[in-house]
Amino acid sequence: MALYDKLEGTVLNKRWRCPKCQKEVSIKANTIFENGHLSFDQVTLLIYFFAIRMSYDDSNHEASIGESLISPNTVDRWYKIS
Ligand SMILES: [Zn+2]
Repeated sequence: MALYDKLEGTVLNKRWRCPKCQKEVSIKANTIFENGHLSFDQVTLLIYFFAIRMSYDDSNHEASIGESLISPNTVDRWYKIS
């Protein structure tokens, strides 16, 4: 399997592709992120905030700047899960 980027709408998503049969599958398939609307990069960013034990307020601030643009509601839901 080879990992590659695929533009879906305005979001750049990561997918696996079999070099023999060309079958594709999302990198989020069969994970808790499968049905979510967040991009791979946004999920990675939120997991990083958890890993370094960033506060809710700081995570909310960091998620709202740059290219991530994760809504405060999304950050709120993630912190309620943890
Ligand atoms: Zn295959």
